[in-house]
Amino acid sequence: MPRPLARQLFVEVGHRCAIPTCRATPLEIAHIVPWHRVQRHDFQNMIVLCPNCHTRFDRGDIDRQAMFRYKELLRLPNPNRVAPDDPSPRAGLIRAYRMFQSETIRWQESISLLVSAVCLSSFGFPTGNLGPVRIAAVARAATDKLGELGDEDVAEAANNVFDWYRCWASDVFDLLPSAFNATEDDYEDRREERFMLFADLHEEVCAALDLDPTELDFFEARRDDQELPKVSLGTRGFWGADE
Ligand SMILES: [Zn+2]
Repeated sequence: MPRPLARQLFVEVGHRCAIPTCRATPLEIAHIVPWHRVQRHDFQNMIVLCPNCHTRFDRGDIDRQAMFRYKELLRLPNPNRVAPDDPSPRAGLIRAYRMFQSETIRWQESISLLVSAVCLSSFGFPTGNLGPVRIAAVARAATDKLGELGDEDVAEAANNVFDWYRCWASDVFDLLPSAFNATEDDYEDRREERFMLFADLHEEVCAALDLDPTELDFFEARRDDQELPKVSLGTRGFWGADE
């Protein structure tokens, strides 16, 4: 096989096994339609695999259609590493999805802090706590943006997540006892509910991108330098004065 062709194939996969969930090394070059049938080296019919995936492919554990699909995916930009300046609609949707996730999680953290503040306060509702309200507005905007860039199913799933948080935030703001007297089981139920809603959204976003849900990270790996901005809830007295 010509060296330039081999190099092109290795570069195509970033010198890793082409199966996105594997990425192992060392590497071998495989013909998708077997060599004895095509008798030629054609870039579109070749893919780089680790020996394990190569064997599984030869055994038929991974079928040819699937292998062509993996090859096809290599042409698309890695959905887990979208450049901030990539102008494609696809990249825009992925960025909007990540923005939606980070804003709803920020909202969640701000409501949790407020719940703690109310529980700790002997004076009732702490005043000056507009943080969660402002963050809700940002989350609303992120929800709308995601709905706009995705399809109807994405919009609906994003709204379901948003509504879940809005109900919870409303219960907290209305000082409903249930919002403050949750048992461990209640917390677990809520976590489960939230997870299912995020999982539904993930499936819809992946469907809109024509990806299998495993091909797009569920949540973007948070880098150390991506700390969430601190949100002041006016509870200085309870948390110490140094903030
Ligand atoms: Zn592999």
